[in-house]
Amino acid sequence: MNQVCQSCSMPLRSDYDKGTNADGSKSSEYCKFCFENGKFKDEGITLEQKIEKNIEIAKKMGIDEARARDLAQMTIPKLKRWKK
Ligand SMILES: [Zn+2]
Repeated sequence: MNQVCQSCSMPLRSDYDKGTNADGSKSSEYCKFCFENGKFKDEGITLEQKIEKNIEIAKKMGIDEARARDLAQMTIPKLKRWKK
């Protein structure tokens, strides 16, 4: 299983990582940091802002900024939330 959040690309390894739908069930597509009670927690954010946000999180996790930027720019635009 290789499922990732379709908003931020965080791996969804278990129900603990998953967000919640409006009916309280677990989302199969989005993580708990992005999605709660059927809504995006950062609704209205642009793709560019989401990429910057992800880079900040990656940096805090000790990932090199240039590498984090490459990774975010490669993966996030392909996710379901950002596809037009
Ligand atoms: Zn997410």
